[in-house]
Amino acid sequence: MKSGLVTLTDRGLYCRQGDFYIDPWKPVKRAVLTHAHADHTYRGNEDYLVPAEGERLSRIRLGDEAKISTQKYGEIGLFNGVKVSFHPAGHVLGSSQVRVEFKGEIWVVSGDYKLMPDETCAPFEPIKCHHFITEATFGLPIYRWQPTKFVFSEINSWWRRNQEKGKASVIFAYSLGKSQRVMNGIDRSIGRIFTHGAVERLTDAYRESGVDMPETQYVGSVGNKRDFSGSLIVAPPSAQASTWLRRFGSHSTGFASGWMMVRGARRQRAVDRGFVLSDHADWPELLRAIQMSEAETVYVTHGFIEEVVRWLNENGQNAVPLKTQFIGDDAEEEIVNTGEHE
Ligand SMILES: [Zn+2]
Ligand SMILES: [Zn+2]
Repeated sequence: MKSGLVTLTDRGLYCRQGDFYIDPWKPVKRAVLTHAHADHTYRGNEDYLVPAEGERLSRIRLGDEAKISTQKYGEIGLFNGVKVSFHPAGHVLGSSQVRVEFKGEIWVVSGDYKLMPDETCAPFEPIKCHHFITEATFGLPIYRWQPTKFVFSEINSWWRRNQEKGKASVIFAYSLGKSQRVMNGIDRSIGRIFTHGAVERLTDAYRESGVDMPETQYVGSVGNKRDFSGSLIVAPPSAQASTWLRRFGSHSTGFASGWMMVRGARRQRAVDRGFVLSDHADWPELLRAIQMSEAETVYVTHGFIEEVVRWLNENGQNAVPLKTQFIGDDAEEEIVNTGEHE
């Protein structure tokens, strides 16, 4: 990475001129955060700047003590002459791209993003820049999402069929973002919806932020004798390994994730059904976002870095790999639960 306005350090992406880090993974003085997923929002920084639209989620993640200031989408903050603004990334509630400008040089750090419509967050906003830092979680041509409507009709009919058989339906979805997207899009007239504690807390934050959520009931708040047949239960993937599932009696399990597109993933996860629903850009969306940025240099991070860089370079785009510290190949989708059980 050339030494420009934004550089990669061992703590995270750093803007020297403005003296702030974006999504740092080691403690720093000032952290500017793209969104509240665990691999972007680490604790221990002196102060934080987060998008106002995601403040409630950041607060849950960072705790009461954290010094958090906010900025609305499009608002410009000044750090030693550097203009900093947040712009919707379409990934989860309050998720942002960070635009950084100094003396006419513009950088955009995309964080995680998707272009597909999602009722639970503001749509991705294309921003023209000189340097675009993009994620590449699903950066292979094989990743192409079906229209969201189609996926929801699959989930609805799975739930209905289970209900007809007197079974409960347990759907695993990451607690921040995916769970709420599932509940927002599902046919709520089918039956009652129950939630795992990690999901319920974040769902409340969505509600308080004005996102339309169906009525839900926290599983832990209902008695042991409760009959769950015919209901839908929304839980984070971590609940799968626990004895937590026993209370639901006869049930079918489903998993909502982009990874469900990978052959064998459903079996590996030991679930009955896989629903391909992702909060990340698929291959065509990645290319479109890059094209819309009109960037002269594209930095690729998170996921299929080499593959995306190679493809871009072969297709006339100046692209550079950017290897940030990253836990596993899909840390974002793995570590998003808030840590508590029930
Ligand atoms: Zn994320
Ligand atoms: Zn991420």
